Amino acid sequence: MCRDKEWVQKSLVTGRVAGQERLTGDVYRIRIQGDFLEDFSREVKPGQFVNVYMKDRSTLLPRPVSICRIQSGQLELVYRVVGKGTREMAGYHRGDAIRLSSPLGNGFDLSCCQSGSALLVGGGVGIPPLLQLAGELNNRGIRSMAVLGFQREPFLIQEMEKICDKVLVATEDGSFGFAGNVVQLIEKEGQEKGLAADQVFSCGPKPMLKALADLCRERELPLQVSLEERMGCGYGACVGCAVDIKQDGKIQRKAVCKDGPVFLAEEVFWHAE
Ligand SMILES: Cc1cc2nc3c(=O)[nH]c(=O)nc-3n(C[C@H](O)[C@H](O)[C@H](O)COP(=O)(O)OP(=O)(O)OC[C@H]3O[C@@H](n4cnc5c(N)ncnc54)[C@H](O)[C@@H]3O)c2cc1C
Repeated sequence: MCRDKEWVQKSLVTGRVAGQERLTGDVYRIRIQGDFLEDFSREVKPGQFVNVYMKDRSTLLPRPVSICRIQSGQLELVYRVVGKGTREMAGYHRGDAIRLSSPLGNGFDLSCCQSGSALLVGGGVGIPPLLQLAGELNNRGIRSMAVLGFQREPFLIQEMEKICDKVLVATEDGSFGFAGNVVQLIEKEGQEKGLAADQVFSCGPKPMLKALADLCRERELPLQVSLEERMGCGYGACVGCAVDIKQDGKIQRKAVCKDGPVFLAEEVFWHAE
């Protein structure tokens, strides 16, 4: 336990807010700078997250937020205001200090995608880590198509369009792009133009991931999913974020923060919600 504590403390950094903007409704982008970003950029894997430590000491647990991108010496996080912690973050201004962990979790496995093409499927605030992923795939010369779903107003579309070969958008209320969800849009696209990808990567709400897992199983497409669970410590000590994973013929409890957040969809035990 003591070793974990030392490790966690060593990996805490303090950055400065370089800017904050509202992307849409209750979704914000915060840009953070600091010397630590040199190390971050070298180490970070798409799909990893940072723990943000709140100033309000009554908010005891850190809040996990995916790394959206590291660009021009700034770390970008995109988050939706849902409660006390994210409300505090939305109140940060340029120059404010912000305490973070170093990148946590396993991130997406890109070794299975050496060439060819990837399909990126995101829903809502599951989309931010896909921007970092799309950039990394692009650097490796891998073509990517993104299918992004929103309840209402979209965000990060232009950023994704600059990197991906093709971006399709679905909104539940039909106000932008295809009216429906991402899985329906993928099915439609597949019927009209065929659907081929060497690897599918996804992050978003669990029902979306489950429906996508069913579709990918039918089409024999390999899928990696980034799961979001409520977390405690963020480094595997409290098992507050445990999920059931099928491995070696057994169901095992795995910590989303340490063993994940990315898992092979075929290994996830999808409980009926
Ligand atoms: C690995 C990981 C990466 C994440 N990346 C992002 C991101 O890039 N952008 C983003 O907006 N959010 C992200 N989240 C979710 C984010 O951590 C929560 O929204 C945040 O912790 C809520 O804190 P709060 O104090 O504002 O709300 P709270 O007061 O703690 O909770 C408010 C509401 O949000 C729900 N909630 C809280 N935590 C989670 C969670 N982990 N998953 C699902 N629902 C939750 C609660 O059930 C409650 O209904 C991520 C979560 C994980 C586990």
